[in-house]
Amino acid sequence: YRPVIALVGRPNVGKSTLFNRLTQSRDAIVADFSGLTRDRHYGDAVLGQRQFIVIDTGGFEPETDTGILKEMARQTRQAVAESDAIIFVVDIRTGLSGHDQDIARFLRTTQKPVFLAVNKAEGMLDSPLVGEFHELGMGELHPISSAHGQGIRSLTEAVLDAL
Ligand code: GDP
Ligand code: MG
Repeated sequence: YRPVIALVGRPNVGKSTLFNRLTQSRDAIVADFSGLTRDRHYGDAVLGQRQFIVIDTGGFEPETDTGILKEMARQTRQAVAESDAIIFVVDIRTGLSGHDQDIARFLRTTQKPVFLAVNKAEGMLDSPLVGEFHELGMGELHPISSAHGQGIRSLTEAVLDAL
């Protein structure tokens, strides 16, 4: 059994960068996993002895704003349905946004564990700015830098330990 972890968040927060960091660009052979659809991006990831599958969402964003919202909502719902846990990614550089609030509202309706990753926090893992995201009501905050590889291990351990 390999747990499935979905990366969810509005465009540009760094989901794909985190995906690449976790999977080191190993694509999963999705055919082996029943229940997974093919219209999104799956990858194999390893932490120590533990293997898991990561789902990236948002790779197929349409051009228009309303299209993005609809497609984002659809992909988020689908990824949540397929996964054992969710990493909700937000961006400390832009700060909390209305889209983040919308996603949080939806994620609160799922029974699955949700982990809030505050990305782009290189050099500011201990900054008080991280605390702004408590407003999303998603529990503990996990400051990370997907681009620089900071906080990733601790986040991943928290997720895997909860499964
Ligand atoms: P996605 O739309 O959520 O998949 O976001 P991407 O992974 O495509 O990243 C969006 C932008 O944010 C890109 O320019 C990335 O290089 C940048 N980015 C991603 N992670 C980090 C990070 O940890 N720190 C900084 N400073 N930039 C990042
Ligand atoms: Mg992306």
